[in-house]
Amino acid sequence: LLEIKGVYKKYDDITVLEDIHLSINKGEVVVILGPSGCGKSTFLRCLNGLEKIQGGDIRYRNKSLVGQDVNWQEVRQRIGMVFQNYELFSHMTVIENIMLGPVKVQKRDKNEVMEQANQLLSRVGLLDRKDSYPRQLSGGQKQRIAIVRALCMNPEIMLFDEVTASLDPEMVREVLDVILGLAKQGMTMLIVTHELSFARAVADKIVFIDKGRICEISKPDEFFTNPKTERAQHFLNKFQ
Ligand code: ATP
Ligand code: MG
Repeated sequence: LLEIKGVYKKYDDITVLEDIHLSINKGEVVVILGPSGCGKSTFLRCLNGLEKIQGGDIRYRNKSLVGQDVNWQEVRQRIGMVFQNYELFSHMTVIENIMLGPVKVQKRDKNEVMEQANQLLSRVGLLDRKDSYPRQLSGGQKQRIAIVRALCMNPEIMLFDEVTASLDPEMVREVLDVILGLAKQGMTMLIVTHELSFARAVADKIVFIDKGRICEISKPDEFFTNPKTERAQHFLNKFQ
């Protein structure tokens, strides 16, 4: 579904991603692990055009996402992304936040979108908060709304960048459970997280990045019990 072939990313003359190769099949859940600053966020951002790459190719459904004529607005409807800091519009209610993209960008019928939004909201247990403003919600609630907003565009792939990193511990679970639910439904996902037990539970494969390079791609059980590289071992030791 998504093919990453020899991707390089530089900021000025500093290389932050080097020769990244990865393929993601439909329905696959890929978890990206690695130390702070290794390039995880940059990598996800390259996949939906928030950063330009300086070498290599990214192919979605066998069409290149590199070059001048890529319609990123269209791609972002297919490859949704959720960030650490929610980025909800503070002057809009929950339901307005969710409906904005589907109605304004996708030009879909309001009633149809409303129905889908309601369904998604009840799935994450927040239907009763649809008329709240973001400031009236907890961090965990805001993050679940941000996920619903992305899902309401009917993406084919979801990218999650440390979506629980700014949450209080008691709210982490409710957000991770939503992502686990998506995995069960067969959503294709790339997830950056520091929640290792969640990573092990949700991933079909673990990609370990260090200093902008993929050091290892393993099945989760293999990665956590018997990592192939010393760098991965060192990374895991720090969590024990
Ligand atoms: P963390 O786990 O802390 O979120 P990360 O793995 O997501 O880290 P990135 O944010 O992708 O790391 O950053 C990778 C490298 O690129 C870092 O060295 C960072 O300083 C650098 N970098 C990121 N964004 C920029 C930018 N806009 N300009 C210059 N350098 C940047
Ligand atoms: Mg990051």
